[in-house]
Amino acid sequence: MRLGGAYWFATLPSGSLGLLVMSHVLAAVAWPYANGPRHIGHVSGFGVPSDVFARYMRMTGHDVLMVSGTDEHGTPIQVQADAEGVTPRELADRYNRVIVADLHGLGLSYDLFTRTTTRNHYAVVQELFEGMYRNGYIVPKTTMGAISPSTGRTLPDRYIEGTCPICGYESARGDQCDSCGNQLDPIDLRNPKSKINGETPEFIETEHFFLDLPALAGVLRQWLDTREGWRPNVLRFSKNLLDDLQPRAITRDLEWGVPIPLEGWRDRGDKRIYVWFDAVIGYLSASIEWARRSGDPEAWRRWWSADGQGKDAPGYYFMGKDNIVFHSVIWPALLAGYSGEGSRDGQPGELGRMNLPTEVVSSEFLTMEGRKFSSSRRVVIYVRDFLERYDADALRYFIAVAGPESNDTDFTWAEFLRRNNDELVAGWGNLVNRSISMAAKNFGAIPPVDPAGLTEADEALLAVARAGFGAVGELIGRHRQKQAIGEAMKVVAEANRYLSEQAPWKLKSEADRPRMGTILHVALQVVSDANTLLTPFLPHSAQKIHELLGGTGVHAPMPVVEEVEDLDGGPAYPVLTGDYSVGARWESVPLEVGRPLDPPKPVFRKLDPSIVDEELARLAG
Ligand SMILES: [Zn+2]
Repeated sequence: MRLGGAYWFATLPSGSLGLLVMSHVLAAVAWPYANGPRHIGHVSGFGVPSDVFARYMRMTGHDVLMVSGTDEHGTPIQVQADAEGVTPRELADRYNRVIVADLHGLGLSYDLFTRTTTRNHYAVVQELFEGMYRNGYIVPKTTMGAISPSTGRTLPDRYIEGTCPICGYESARGDQCDSCGNQLDPIDLRNPKSKINGETPEFIETEHFFLDLPALAGVLRQWLDTREGWRPNVLRFSKNLLDDLQPRAITRDLEWGVPIPLEGWRDRGDKRIYVWFDAVIGYLSASIEWARRSGDPEAWRRWWSADGQGKDAPGYYFMGKDNIVFHSVIWPALLAGYSGEGSRDGQPGELGRMNLPTEVVSSEFLTMEGRKFSSSRRVVIYVRDFLERYDADALRYFIAVAGPESNDTDFTWAEFLRRNNDELVAGWGNLVNRSISMAAKNFGAIPPVDPAGLTEADEALLAVARAGFGAVGELIGRHRQKQAIGEAMKVVAEANRYLSEQAPWKLKSEADRPRMGTILHVALQVVSDANTLLTPFLPHSAQKIHELLGGTGVHAPMPVVEEVEDLDGGPAYPVLTGDYSVGARWESVPLEVGRPLDPPKPVFRKLDPSIVDEELARLAG
């Protein structure tokens, strides 16, 4: 793993060469819940967009820290583990491994993808809890808790079922309704029943801890009022959430989770910190784990510290829209409360004062053939099944051009086939293939430009490609990835039109040969530029095309899965990490005349139309 240097020579998107102070950028990616494999709806929201952004920022010379991990606590994992007769840890181990493999297969370039069951994570969660408690933003509150009348013992949330008071779903759990997704308290349920023996639970006074959100409303509003460039619906939704902030319970009657780090509570087996409270802290704990593994345990501060060298480091948070509240209210409230910045003031804890998020980049939902994804109803395609049959870049392309960036969008197999065959294969793949194969066949190398020089058409095409760096880059920087890949594909379309118009295949005589070489040189240069423009979106094929153009070395760095020891003595686990300091820069690199070229193998696979019916039959089960 790598640490960033202080200065970096980089070509600015405008094309001017300048000395940039290398800035630190945090890419904080939503934590997938470890209760099953991920489907393509999940990765279209948090996974691919964050990777496109991180790759682009690295290519422009920024020192990006991209972190996430599996979210492994909470009732749903405990319930599923109970049903399977395994421990929650065993269940989390299984799906942590599956999810790491899914994200690896997609080429998502995490600096560290870890998990919430590490000892490091427990320690960081407890440090934030204690700091907020000292500052008065976490308060104990007497509330009504369920007990079993026949045994007198506390009845954990997961063993209480009843009708959801919000949507009327009849099998809502004590802490959450799986139908409408709202968080509940057991006492909210209508007709609560014990799932153990069917008796009606009794509610008695019990103590839990609450996050005092009203005391943090002022600092949250101040922060949201200064946000710029957010997707308008995300900012509007976030501001509306502030209108009715109530204290929120952050502990539960549950055995699986992070213990409450206070005297008299630490050793209690029946009370744990609520899963959503611990999971959002993962961004920070994963950054600290990354730093500890890098050999410089303090390095995380460059992305987080609001006082030190991290104070200008922006942080971008990527997620689906169902997670906005945790990132635009809960997480900034925790950071501000720990830093001592709410209406009760206070002192920062030992980790210091923290940066609040720069932007919450939330996407909408992907549906599948017009329906909501649902594992139980089998309206689903899992990432691993997809990657067994299709290439990662084919999915990445679909997500980039047709994903749920700012509207709900629908994945259909017919549309996937069309995008793959008509755009990726017939557009980009065809340009790569015909320009390289013509040059390989006629010259065996990158041909030189005729001393007679370039024509107006040659110059115009080269200019279109060079202008792409500014246009595409600016759009990725503003999280407008759909438009960004559209601009890159316009360069591809222009190059295909240029080849058709120039028709180098007709220039067969010896006298025409220098002109043929010039046309192919220009075409290959634009293939190289377009390949760089598409690298954040299509890293796997970008590496292959780089090599087809005679390039060597790493063009698009890829993540690796590493088995690591827990830093504090817990069990070993797999992480995703990588060395992303190598690879292409966001600039046009002049092709080297005379570099040998071989006849290319196709980079993209044309799919047979029969896959549509096959996949629909699988969906129908
Ligand atoms: Zn409900």
